[in-house]
Amino acid sequence: MIFFIIWIICIPLVIWIVLQIVSKRRAAGEAEPGVQLEECAICHEEFPMEALLEKEVGGYSRVYCFCGDCIEQLHLEYQAKVEHRDEENKTISEPANL
Ligand SMILES: [Zn+2]
Repeated sequence: MIFFIIWIICIPLVIWIVLQIVSKRRAAGEAEPGVQLEECAICHEEFPMEALLEKEVGGYSRVYCFCGDCIEQLHLEYQAKVEHRDEENKTISEPANL
């Protein structure tokens, strides 16, 4: 019976100690890095804030961060699209000009 009572007291105590150790480690781990990392909204990779561009997107005033690589990729995609559209317009308009 005594063992049972000790057991009942010890289990929450051990769980509490473990939780205290885990939370202390987590707090120390969070405090260590000086650089705040943010996730890029497109590639979901983490970058320091100075490497990201913040933009308000949509009607809910949500701010998204975009990394340089993704911005460049968007620019290239847009350029390719515009060029493709211009080529299509040329091929359509050319027979009309002749
Ligand atoms: Zn990105």
